Amino acid sequence: MTTITEAQRAFFNTNQTKSIEFRINQLKKLKSVLQENEQKLNKAIEEDFSKSAFDNYSCELGLLYMEIDEAIKKIRKWAEFKRVRTNLVNFPAKSYIIPEPLGVSLIIGAWNYPYQLSVGPAIAAIAAGNTVVLKPSELPVHTSKILAEIINRNFDPSFFKVVEGGVSETEGLLKQRFDKIFFTGSVNVGRIVYEAAAKHLTPVTLEMGGKSPAFILDDRNMEMYVKRLMWAKFLNAGQTCIAPDYVLVHQSLKQKFLDLAVAEIKREKYSIENQNYVQIINEKNMNRIRKMIDGAQVVCGGSFDLQKRIIEPTLLENIGFDDPIMKEEIFGPVLPVISFNLLDDVITEVKKREKPLSCYVFTQNKRIKDKILHEISFGGGAVNDAVMHISNNKLPFGGVGESGIGSYHGEYGFKAFSHYKSILEKPTWFESGLKYFPHNAQKLKIMKWMLGLR
Ligand code: NAD
Repeated sequence: MTTITEAQRAFFNTNQTKSIEFRINQLKKLKSVLQENEQKLNKAIEEDFSKSAFDNYSCELGLLYMEIDEAIKKIRKWAEFKRVRTNLVNFPAKSYIIPEPLGVSLIIGAWNYPYQLSVGPAIAAIAAGNTVVLKPSELPVHTSKILAEIINRNFDPSFFKVVEGGVSETEGLLKQRFDKIFFTGSVNVGRIVYEAAAKHLTPVTLEMGGKSPAFILDDRNMEMYVKRLMWAKFLNAGQTCIAPDYVLVHQSLKQKFLDLAVAEIKREKYSIENQNYVQIINEKNMNRIRKMIDGAQVVCGGSFDLQKRIIEPTLLENIGFDDPIMKEEIFGPVLPVISFNLLDDVITEVKKREKPLSCYVFTQNKRIKDKILHEISFGGGAVNDAVMHISNNKLPFGGVGESGIGSYHGEYGFKAFSHYKSILEKPTWFESGLKYFPHNAQKLKIMKWMLGLR
């Protein structure tokens, strides 16, 4: 039996995906397939964890349409040969770089934004001229099913195929040889994927998570800071890889911050009925998050409904860096607040931990902002805002250290799925005798001069 990778490799080797026209047509088709099925896509995500049509557009489909439009507009430029200067030692010659697709790609998606995190990388892969095997997360059953249905009905499987399944299906796929693996998910599974990729020396992009801090450093516009921060935290009920995981607030500002945060949570009236809140994805995660809530530390929220899989937006205070909640990524609607005296002390604590996917700095003080951006390593982030950096596809999106390897969005996605082939092209009418025998001091001197090593 021909495996999916064999079928896709055979198709890739026909060179059809190398045509820019082909890629643009496939991207246009993908956009219309998504648009035609918007109702079904909305229904599926609602069934999985009560995500509203508004959120499905603003956090999933809208971002995908933006990516497709950008790729269609820029693909010719991204795929162009790029001329670069030729150095003296190679004169006369032309030097240029040819972006080429890597080949057969595997994309493994996470559940929390089930469309954006699986179709997003697929757009980049197609734009760069690859074939795609897409394995969405199995946890949101309905979104996985609808993706398989609409993609597999409309695309040739030897070009673009959705394979549904969980651990064993993914393990099966990982045994096959791919030319690129793009993974979004947890650090533990990221390691498994990286190991499997190493067997075939397959390049990877790993989009993982971590504990992203938010610094509140002055109160010059605290109402605005809190409004943006609460929205970012409780969007998708905190099940966002770049959600602020915990807050670091100066002691003198703590009470004002907490009062405003409680007021903002009340004002926003988070609920499924108001369509601004979602369910926790499953019982396992309900129990995991629930255990992080220590009643003595609750400032607001803290209650939950196991049956409906809802956890109230919860603020916790009097948290220390050694508390259990600081040991793992929260990935739910619980926000611990740590107050501090000296900024340097908390920067040191943050740096003792794994490099986070994001970091947010709320201040009007340029020196302090610069200090944090300069001293802490993290994937990407925002100043006086949170999460929204993901929506600008001119910015590369990805982690560093344990939060990820590589990045995507816009041209960075194209680059993630491309190899940049370098060519030196020489005419045959001239050849310098410099590198040929016999060698002497005079030639060495000229060689050094030509290499710019005077
Ligand atoms: P996960 O690692 O459990 O699952 C991700 C994918 O891996 C799924 O498709 C799943 O089927 C597959 N998988 C699970 N176990 C596997 C195994 N043993 N072998 C092979 N494949 C396996 O992650 P998740 O729960 O879906 O997502 C949550 C995590 O993902 C969080 O840590 C979050 O921060 C991170 N995340 C990161 C980003 C990002 O863009 N950086 C986005 C969303 C989520």
